[in-house]
Amino acid sequence: MKMQQVSDSCFAVLNEKNRVCDANSGLINLGGGVVIDTQSDLAHARQMIEMFSKVWPSMPRRVINTHEDADHVWGNQLFEGAEIIAHRSVPERMKHVANPEEFQKLMHGVANVSTRQALQAVHPGLVAAGQQLLEDYNFDGIELVLPTTLFDTRYELNLDGTEVHLIYVGPCHQVGDTIIHVPKERVVFAGDVLFRQCTPMGWTGSFEKWFQCIDLLVQLNPEVIVAGHGPLCGIEGATEMKAYLQYVRNESKKCFDAELTSLDAAKRIEFGPYGEWRAPARLYMNVERAYREFRNDPPDAPWDSPATFDAIYQVAKAKEIEVEY
Ligand SMILES: [Zn+2]
Repeated sequence: MKMQQVSDSCFAVLNEKNRVCDANSGLINLGGGVVIDTQSDLAHARQMIEMFSKVWPSMPRRVINTHEDADHVWGNQLFEGAEIIAHRSVPERMKHVANPEEFQKLMHGVANVSTRQALQAVHPGLVAAGQQLLEDYNFDGIELVLPTTLFDTRYELNLDGTEVHLIYVGPCHQVGDTIIHVPKERVVFAGDVLFRQCTPMGWTGSFEKWFQCIDLLVQLNPEVIVAGHGPLCGIEGATEMKAYLQYVRNESKKCFDAELTSLDAAKRIEFGPYGEWRAPARLYMNVERAYREFRNDPPDAPWDSPATFDAIYQVAKAKEIEVEY
């Protein structure tokens, strides 16, 4: 992890491995201090707090969760008494998609040789993902702490005269997607609306909505965007990711029309220049999302997580690349 100054008052803590769960956090060191997203486990959250304390010595009074995924909310409990702000959908969604007990069970299962072997026979991808997570994370002790201040479309903060705009843009990657714009400093904290130099993973929402949101990022004309995952970038980061999503959707359509399954399509579609990004086999999720749209499935159709990790595993094996999430 490292901290980088983004503008006069904005900072980011970036997880450099850039694999699944390696989410970024932000800090605006004005008006009591605002932290944006709280990391995936308590050790990472403590390290983030320690890094931010170099530029904001007291505990920040506010937290913003950009959406409901575990890797953005599991450090919330360390901000005791803070106001936690998020889109209205986030508390309910967190209970479903960020249940710490499920992850704890998986990690303990994978850490144990006999349960791992049994699980591996059925879900090799789930085991591979669990083993990767074990290298960096420990989900023990995590308790869900839900947002306390909820908003619908837009929420504004005035921090010592600096305006901060929370703009609801979901569902494009997840139901609660919110971006945080600091116009005076030309900074946007994009949450997982933007993945940089790693393959985006989208759960709930549509390509169209995601494109609209990326267009909005560009229109806001920021000098720096803090992605949910990956290094800092400018608007080129947004346009590159849009091009990737367009490419995947177009290629998926050809495979869909040829009646391939989404898994076979993901095995067949070339990574192209995006093979350089982290975890390119996560392509499967974007193909599957495209297929859901072609079939007119509801945008919130649930994911079978073990099957999804297994499919990514199979794509990596078929393409003879490292299995990475
Ligand atoms: Zn994330």
